[in-house]
Formats: sequence, structure tokens, C-alpha cells
Amino acid sequence: MNKASIVASRRSQRPESDPGPDPASQASQPSRKLTESPDHGLYKLFLEAGQTELPVQGLTERLRAAGILSDDPRAREIFDRMGQDKNARSIATSSEFNELFALNPSLIRRVAEDSLVIPDWDEFCRSIALIFQEAANVVDGKVAAYIPELASVPAEKFGLGICSVDGQRVHYGDAKDPFSIQSISKTVSYCLASEEVGPQALHAHIGREPSGHSFNAITLDPKRRPHNPMINAGAIVSCSLIKSEKSASERFAHVLETWKRLTADGDVSFNNTVFLSERDSADRNFALAYFLRENAAFPKNTGISATLDFYFQCCSVEMTCESMAIAAATLANGGVNPLTNERVFSIETVKNCLSLMHSCGMYDFSGEFAFLIGVPAKSGVGGGIMVVVPEVLGFCVWSPPLDEHGNSVRGIEFCKLLMSKYSFHNFDIVTGAEGEKVDPTRRKVSVRNARVVDLCWAAAKGDTKEIQRLIASGVDINGADYDGRTALHLAASEGQAASVQYILQNGGKRDAKDRWGNTPFDDAQRSGHLAVAEIFEHIQG
Ligand code: GLU
Repeated sequence: MNKASIVASRRSQRPESDPGPDPASQASQPSRKLTESPDHGLYKLFLEAGQTELPVQGLTERLRAAGILSDDPRAREIFDRMGQDKNARSIATSSEFNELFALNPSLIRRVAEDSLVIPDWDEFCRSIALIFQEAANVVDGKVAAYIPELASVPAEKFGLGICSVDGQRVHYGDAKDPFSIQSISKTVSYCLASEEVGPQALHAHIGREPSGHSFNAITLDPKRRPHNPMINAGAIVSCSLIKSEKSASERFAHVLETWKRLTADGDVSFNNTVFLSERDSADRNFALAYFLRENAAFPKNTGISATLDFYFQCCSVEMTCESMAIAAATLANGGVNPLTNERVFSIETVKNCLSLMHSCGMYDFSGEFAFLIGVPAKSGVGGGIMVVVPEVLGFCVWSPPLDEHGNSVRGIEFCKLLMSKYSFHNFDIVTGAEGEKVDPTRRKVSVRNARVVDLCWAAAKGDTKEIQRLIASGVDINGADYDGRTALHLAASEGQAASVQYILQNGGKRDAKDRWGNTPFDDAQRSGHLAVAEIFEHIQG
């Protein structure tokens, strides 16, 4: 038995009663059915247990359950056609289904095969919703009051947007409300400056160290550069480097257009009142800019007021949690937007930006955040936090009341709760079903739990020597794969009596349940391995 057939045997474990991704919508589907399939293998993957024909809307329901939303540019046409089809019969032909598959075969195939980065998206979303509710109980903090536009934002606003590197999306609360991105803009200003002049030239002007001072402190590093690009002085210098030969309108259009590309044409706008207030209350930023010029920290011929205006404009961009999450996912995906497949920034630029977000992105809480949460993030005084879990997902949480550092109180609470449940911290090295934290991804499971998979494979083959060797080298005998299947499940399913006996005698848990609630003993019985079932009865746990 090879690894692929282990997966296949797991798939067949789904019991008749397992309703699949979205039972409610399945029940309400029209009764028209397809009778033949354009690609039979793929077609069969869409069938739920007990189905022989695919209900017409089975495809879009599966996409939705996997987190592919109807405004996703990769699937919009599929949803549009299915939506139009509500009362029309014509779509229910195999050739039209063929056409639907052809609109995005790779996406549809990955949905059918459950191979998106977070396979059990429904379950993941349910647990995120609980964490979001729990974070909502926190009511501390003060809304930024240095300009009236921020002071008047209702403190109870709370939104969350998540987007995986495969473009699986979900939103909660006020995720569609625009908020002022403020210092989150420093990430994109840094990336744009770096892409334009190159990281070396950029870092001749801006350092890479946490400053140890507040974000708007009048201070430079020993080389007379701003300490890093995530604080005001550094971001002002980043702005001075972006398209410095162009007109003010062209420069700002370039920034807006970049945010648009990062968000797959999501909600990105400019708030002119915020901009005017920022400029009117900017004594500190003016002081910083003159201090920078005095110390020759700017490139030659930098105009102070043009640069500051540009910086204030970048801070006055408004976005939603929904759109910011896609930008965060683009960074998590190494600079390629998961919804459009467009490369927006180079891998090197993204790597540098994430490194700096990791060490300097959260004001004077950056070290604590890196320690506790362990992923790159950038916050702004508008109450937004953009968080990147590399290779997995990006999210944006927004709640205006801030703590003493200038970070959203609820936002930080949400991050803490999320990290206590999921192994997203950069240094969550040991994970798996036996650990305290859950790894919801297929990818991490495959990398980190490769040895557990090896153990399960050895058990399925009945290779007791290999099982012995793996356990001696530290692999957890009760380690489970993503489906909760342990070595004992596999050995029992495959009727490997000697391996079952060995595992049971060496601490294997007889009552371990897989994701369908089956124990190894259930597997032995169902597969008709009576000798193996007897071993369970003779060896007492
Ligand atoms: N516009 C603000 C400033 O420059 C940005 C504040 C922030 O989000 O850190 O002071």
C-alpha cells in the first residue's frame, strides 16, 4: 500500500451519515440532476456519500464550503452562470458542466480533492467565529483622538477578514467597513521603495533595527538613518524614494494602484478629510522631516513638504478588513495575489518586508508580539492590524480602541487567542493531533508530521521493525495525521496483526478516534479482520 492509497482509504472512511460540507444547502437544491460527467474521476470526487448523480448546484456549494466566494475572480464566472441558472434548464447538460470545469480546472480539481491549504475550511471558520466572539468581550483601550476623524469612529466596531494563500476567504463583524489604515501603509511604502531602488540602496537610507523608542521619536541610528521603515522617520524616507521624479498625483496613484493589485481590486479608497487633519496636526512629523534633512538622511533634492504630503496621503488610505486580508495573503503567498495569480512584489521584497514587520511592526510591543504571537504584523492607530502567517494565510483584524502602545486591544487579544489554538507561531515546531495546538493546514501537516505519516505507512504495511525504529527515534506512537488516524488505525484497517499487537503493547491508544469517530477496533471489525479484532480483546489496555 503506498501513501496515496492511505489517503484513498481515509477518504472511504467517510460514513454515509457524514453530511459533507454544506448539508443545508444540499437539502434545498433543485432536483435536476446530471446524468453523465465530463470528467468522470473529477465528477466522482464531487459526489457525497450515497450520491450517484451530482446535483446541479453541487459544484458551487462545494466551492463555497471550501472558502471560494462568489466575487472571487477565479470563480466569478462559475458562480454567475450557476446563479443565472436558477430557473433555467439549459445548464444541466454535461457539455455545460464541461464548460464550467474548463473555466478553472485547477481550482475545481483542488476543491474536489480537498487539497487547498486549509482543507477543512468549514471547521476552521467555526472555530475562528468562536475566537472572534471571545475577543469581542474585551472592552479596554482608547480610540485615537489626535484627529477628529479617528476620534469619532465608534469604539464598538470590530471586524475580521481572513484569506488563505489559496484564496479561501471568510469575514466576521464589521469586515466591510472602511477604516483608516494609518501606519499599516508603511509596509507598502517600504516594498515600493525597495522594488524601485533595490534593497541595498534603500537600506543605505533606512536601518533594520527596532529603535527602542516610540514610533515618532526624533532619533536616528549610529549611521544617521531612521532605525527601520516601520516607524514614522523610516516611512517618511521610504516615501521620499518612491517615484521621486514623478508628479505628486502620479506618485500617489502608484500607491493606490499597488494596494488595488494587492487586494484583487478590493476596497481601497482615500479619505481627504483624514489627510487634511493629518497635515494640520503634524508638527512632530514636520520636526522629524527637518531632523532627517539636517542629518542628510534623505536622498538628494528631497522636498520636505511634498514628501510629507505623500506620507500623509499614504496614511489616509482607507480599506476594509476584507480587502486588507487579501493584501496580507498576498504577502503570505510570497508576493503573488492568490485571487488573481498576479505577482505584485518580488520574493526578496516580501521576505525583507516580513522580516521587518516581525521585528518592528507593532510599535513598542514588537518584541512581545514576536515572542507571543510569532508572525509578522503591522498595526496602525486606526485600530487595524495586518497579520501574515507565511505560506498559510493573511488576516486583518480591526477594532479602534488602542492600548498604551497604540495597538488595537481587541486585535491583540484576537491574535493571542488564535495562537493559543493554532500552531501558527513561527516556532511552533512540534505540532499534531497529540499536541495542545491544532495545525489546520494540509501543508504544515505534511512537512512537520512527515514522520507520523511514515509511522502510519509502516503500520499499514505491517512493517513492525520500521515501527520500532521510528518509535525509538522519538516519533509519537499515538501521533495522528490530519484525519486523526493513528498507526493503530492503519494497522487495524489493513489487518496487520503483528503490528497491531506491537503497537498495543507499547502504549498505542485503543480508544483513539479518527475524525469520523472510529476507533482502531472499529476499523478491524469493519474490514473483516477478525483475528486482529481478537487481539484487541486479548490485550487489555
Ligand atoms: N499618521 C500617523 C502619524 O504619522 C500614523 C500613526 C500610526 O498609525 O502609527 O503620526
